[in-house]
Amino acid sequence: MSGPNDNFDPKQVAALDPAQIDGFVTEALSAIEASSTTAELKQARHDHAGEVSPLALANREIGALPPHARKEAGQRVGQARGRLNQAFAARQEALSVAEEEATLVAERVDMTLPVDLGPRGALHPVTNLIDEMIDVFVAMGWEVADGPQVESEWHNFDALNLAPDHPARALQDTLWIDPPSAGKLLRTQTSPVQIRAMLERGVPLYIISPGKVFRADEYDATHLPVFHQLEGLVVDKGISMADLRGTLDHLAQAMFGDVRTRMRPHYFPFTEPSAEVDLQCFVCHGESVGNPERPCRTCRSEGWIEWGGCGVVNPRVLAACGVDPEVYSGFAFGMGVDRTVMFRTGAPDLRDFVEGDIRFSRSILGGAR
Ligand SMILES: [Zn+2]
Repeated sequence: MSGPNDNFDPKQVAALDPAQIDGFVTEALSAIEASSTTAELKQARHDHAGEVSPLALANREIGALPPHARKEAGQRVGQARGRLNQAFAARQEALSVAEEEATLVAERVDMTLPVDLGPRGALHPVTNLIDEMIDVFVAMGWEVADGPQVESEWHNFDALNLAPDHPARALQDTLWIDPPSAGKLLRTQTSPVQIRAMLERGVPLYIISPGKVFRADEYDATHLPVFHQLEGLVVDKGISMADLRGTLDHLAQAMFGDVRTRMRPHYFPFTEPSAEVDLQCFVCHGESVGNPERPCRTCRSEGWIEWGGCGVVNPRVLAACGVDPEVYSGFAFGMGVDRTVMFRTGAPDLRDFVEGDIRFSRSILGGAR
């Protein structure tokens, strides 16, 4: 008994003919050899070993063979595919290495080429000095407080015990926001931050508040309508003028070296007693006084430099902020930052601070301190 396929010879199936399969392999090998990029090799793999390649089609024919013929045909196709896989892998490896080398050559950067970076920017000398002053206080555990530049009349004047008829309220000093009846102004001092801090943070309180302030001042060598102050405020139990003195001496020495401060009685509405604070000249240490042969430009041979104002916080200011003046006391001080930069560096004209000529900043950054 014989079935229809009994005498089927695999060599009669064209696709499985050994010469045919050798032909597929030869074509594939030459395509692999001819691939000069991994993309071309990928295409060759698709054409000669992919799902619709002649070799894959031949492999499918194996299933149509009678069982006794399948083994030989399967081995033949399997060996052909194995040869091609090895050839693909070897070519893939060689092309990858070559392409990586080509990429490295193409993307090579010459680190020795000269580069023109142009001039670099720098922080403004005022910003630098504020940062330096903040460091002194933060190191003692104080906090930095900030407040709005457009301030209410109450925060800027009333709460600080400046009576309604105080000359500082007059229009020539204060820049009011239109309409004036709204009671809004550009803050004339950083002191309103003290009020806000007492109201918002409560006591005990150790803060400094650096920032811009605004006055309807002339614009000349010693006045700017916008300048910078740094204020300090301490409110705690048992605070006295001695603590104020020690704090100012510490700040002076941290910034100027071995110098002292002195206080001269003065009047401020928000402190009582009040004083102006002078800094001993850090250049001549007073030796230029009465010594015409050794004049000092920094202190104009006076031995002292006016630095700022200070005092014991007026109990009325504490009360306005809900702090019991019977239990708490405090001190406050403030100084002009721009002015401090001036006498620290010898910069003669405040207008240079705002006119944006980098030769000014450069000379200060590179100049004497
Ligand atoms: Zn001096």
